[in-house]
Amino acid sequence: MTRPEPTPDSLHLLAIGAHPDDCELFAGGMLAALCAAGWRVAALDLTRGEAASRGTPEERAAEARRAASILGLRERVTLDLGDAGLENTAETRGAVVEALRRLRPRAVVTHHPDDRHPDHVRAHHLAREACFYASVGRFPAEGERLASPPALFYFFGNPHRPEIHADFIVPLDEALHERKRQAIAAYASQFHNPDYAGPPTLISSRGYAEAMDARARWFGLSVGAPYGEPYALDQPPAIADPLAQLLGMKRVEKQAR
Ligand SMILES: [Zn+2]
Repeated sequence: MTRPEPTPDSLHLLAIGAHPDDCELFAGGMLAALCAAGWRVAALDLTRGEAASRGTPEERAAEARRAASILGLRERVTLDLGDAGLENTAETRGAVVEALRRLRPRAVVTHHPDDRHPDHVRAHHLAREACFYASVGRFPAEGERLASPPALFYFFGNPHRPEIHADFIVPLDEALHERKRQAIAAYASQFHNPDYAGPPTLISSRGYAEAMDARARWFGLSVGAPYGEPYALDQPPAIADPLAQLLGMKRVEKQAR
């Protein structure tokens, strides 16, 4: 595999989530896999999660640091752009462009726009637009412009309708899925945890944990792996030789034969 050489200390991939825990919950397996393979990967949380029903921002910051170290992330940056009121404005675009110009990712993964949480939808549009403006020379934000917008793709959160149309699936073996589980469990205040006293929420229910595991099993099954994570591309890829590409996209179980 050839890897594009980034400029010194730049990132290969930046995962952008609305709240601390989104990147782990929806893309944790892929992030663990890429970190283990040696890619430079980091996470950017747009808000501190201060509006959540459970956990304080301080608790969540400590949980996010621990989850980042479990996944092997190079860096985690948490902005303070307003949980439960995240907006796509000149000011918030400026803040995200500044972060992109400092971190200089070659690719960005963020929320798919179909999601029941309004912050996730807004995070999608904010991140997508900031990726574009980060390469515009006279956009009013600190930092040197990116030579070109990062390659964009999307993870799936909790869609309004329970439908996920994946463009590709990242297969996960037991070890990678377990690392994702541990990164999610680091958010002791947010997800299913009988030891944490807090009001019940959808994402802290046992059913939610089981549903997310079942979703990973379902997408894994469709590519012949124990688990899997679905992703969508921002644009159709340019494929010069479709046959070579398709033959290289054999499912995991066929590759193993
Ligand atoms: Zn979220």
